[in-house]
Amino acid sequence: IIEVNQLRKSFGTLDVLKQVSFNVEPGEVIAVIGPSGSGKSTMLRSLIHLEDISGGTIRIQGQALAENGSYAGAADIRKITDRMGMVFQHFNLFPHLTVQANLELAPKTLKKESSAIIRQRSLEFLGKVGLSDKADAYPANLSGGQKQRVAIARALMMQPEILLFDEPTSALDPELTGEVLRVIKQLAQENMTMMIVTHEMSFARDVADRVFFMDNGEIAEAGPPEQIFGNAKLERTRTFLQRVE
Ligand code: ATP
Ligand code: MG
Repeated sequence: IIEVNQLRKSFGTLDVLKQVSFNVEPGEVIAVIGPSGSGKSTMLRSLIHLEDISGGTIRIQGQALAENGSYAGAADIRKITDRMGMVFQHFNLFPHLTVQANLELAPKTLKKESSAIIRQRSLEFLGKVGLSDKADAYPANLSGGQKQRVAIARALMMQPEILLFDEPTSALDPELTGEVLRVIKQLAQENMTMMIVTHEMSFARDVADRVFFMDNGEIAEAGPPEQIFGNAKLERTRTFLQRVE
């Protein structure tokens, strides 16, 4: 469902992604781990065109977002990236809108569905993340864990085929991470295709089908959690894990 070939990204003279290649199968959950500055966020942001890549090919459901470094036309880019949702470390909710209005904003802007259908779906997804009683609350009056669950429900409103998470629990107090991880785990059980940048190694071990260890702009090692956490091939993978666990 995601095919990446020889992806390169530079910021000026800094090569942040160096020939990154990987595939993700439908329904797969990929945990992306690795040291700070290794390119994890840049890789995820490239997939959804929040970064312009410098070279390589990205295909989503067989359609090229970029091929050998040249991008598809604007309409096609839009069509492709609309199938993906992204959840960030800092929630990025609109502070002046209620929870429900945050969920409804993007689908309403698209004007493809009636407001009744959009309203019904927003209530359904608020229920799914356990926040039915917060529809009329403002983000400022929610806990961090609640805000992040709203952000996940908002991403689901666009009915994405793929969800990308960039450190969804890193801004949360430890006692609030569990409620967010439970929602992500439930999505995994429903076969949502997901790539999750995370520092939560036990979570990665628990939900990921495969783990990508990024180091210095490349996927240094990839494999099932048992391999990465139990029997990593590379010394630098083992060294990284010893430092974080
Ligand atoms: P962290 O775990 O700290 O979030 P990361 O693996 O997500 O790190 P990236 O944010 O992808 O790393 O950054 C990779 C490299 O690219 C870093 O050296 C960073 O300083 C650099 N970088 C990222 N964004 C920009 C930018 N907009 N302009 C210049 N350099 C950037
Ligand atoms: Mg990052």
